[in-house]
Amino acid sequence: MKTAIYPGSFDPITKGHVDVIERALKIFDKVIIAIGDNPEKKSLFSTEERADMIKESTKHLKNVEVDKIEGLLSDYVKKKNCSIILRGLRAISDFEFEFQRALMNRQLDSDIETVFIMTKHNYVYLNSSVVKEIAMFKGSVKQFVPEIVEKKLKEKFI
Ligand code: ADP
Repeated sequence: MKTAIYPGSFDPITKGHVDVIERALKIFDKVIIAIGDNPEKKSLFSTEERADMIKESTKHLKNVEVDKIEGLLSDYVKKKNCSIILRGLRAISDFEFEFQRALMNRQLDSDIETVFIMTKHNYVYLNSSVVKEIAMFKGSVKQFVPEIVEKKLKEKFI
């Protein structure tokens, strides 16, 4: 059984993330969505809130697990008996950062391979930060996020 671990902040999950997960499930038997906190980003939603939104947004998919990363990603991957990290690629601007991270994780554990999946063109410029910004100013995020996320964002910014 080939399992891929998809780490990220998912603050909150967007349709771009869901698209990557759906595509990955055509290649892998299982995807573990692993929520981690990016120390450079202050999160809007708690880990529990993010996990609940991910579960609801992926309930149409089989073989998806939602988990939380404690500590170093390479250690987490090993603990899960896995060797594949899945990441989404959008524009070229993602490349430098992702390239660095992938090589660093391989340096920490030579068994780890990072696999990149390109999102649907509609979601190339979509990210969680821009969604939060639109929601904060009461704009519509309907086309960018699953329904549950739209609802939770509205509640946050009432
Ligand atoms: P992180 O803080 O780890 O970058 P994110 O939740 O922002 O967490 O992103 C997790 C992963 O999902 C990253 O690989 C990112 O490039 C990818 N991703 C985010 N938004 C999209 C999108 N719209 N299309 C494809 N991949 C995306």
